[in-house]
Amino acid sequence: MSDCIFCKIVSGDIPATVVYEDDDVLVFMDIGPIIKGHALVISKEHHDPVTETPDELLAKMHLTAKKIAAAQVNGLGADGVNIIQNNGIAAGQEVPHIHIHVIPRFGEDGHHWNWAAKKYDSFEEMAEMAEKIKAGL
Ligand code: 5GP
Ligand code: ZN
Repeated sequence: MSDCIFCKIVSGDIPATVVYEDDDVLVFMDIGPIIKGHALVISKEHHDPVTETPDELLAKMHLTAKKIAAAQVNGLGADGVNIIQNNGIAAGQEVPHIHIHVIPRFGEDGHHWNWAAKKYDSFEEMAEMAEKIKAGL
């Protein structure tokens, strides 16, 4: 994809600070880290969104995210790691080329997700949502 920022990083047209790569995946530092050390695992081939990404490649990306998480713990002394993958503008995705965020977390790093748990109006409403998801399987 000629107009894709991450494809340009893969081809070397845009520089990136690479942490790891193999034939299928590239891992580089996010230019706008949520926490310093924030890395992105991308596929070298252009795919998007997650539902259109080949299974084997997706599995490899997630195993790579696990490897990078361990490296953030070992190398940076991270106390925890967030692994996040956004799909679609509604989900906050800015770059439409599949990628996994691997974000090192530290005890008092000051970052808080806006994770405000809501409530279903009733048990039935939750069950209805579950039925709709099951129908989509
Ligand atoms: P998204 O919101 O699509 O899940 O995340 C895209 C991420 O890519 C953002 O965290 C953003 O900081 C990062 N990003 C966007 N452009 C570049 C770039 O040119 N270089 C690097 N290293 N990261 C980028
Ligand atoms: Zn791309």
